Amino acid sequence: MSTPYDRPARPWDLFNKNLGRVETEIADERFSICKTCDFLLPTGNCSKCGCFMSSKVKLPNASCPENKWGQVVLSYKDKEIK
Ligand code: SF4
Repeated sequence: MSTPYDRPARPWDLFNKNLGRVETEIADERFSICKTCDFLLPTGNCSKCGCFMSSKVKLPNASCPENKWGQVVLSYKDKEIK
């Protein structure tokens, strides 16, 4: 079974309610790492992945392209992801 955890997070994962969201503490911890990172742009985007980080840090299947933080695996409700 393929799940969003088998691939990097994509922007449209933000609209996938079955994926869930990480706890606020985890999102805050991830974002605090980004805030100290040289790759975070003034726009709030990461210059490595291009993502808007205040949103991406909430996705459980998101991870840092520089391995500064990683995925949080939650149970996923769908049987198959296309
Ligand atoms: S995702 Fe990683 S590389 Fe990008 S700004 Fe955050 S800590 Fe830096």
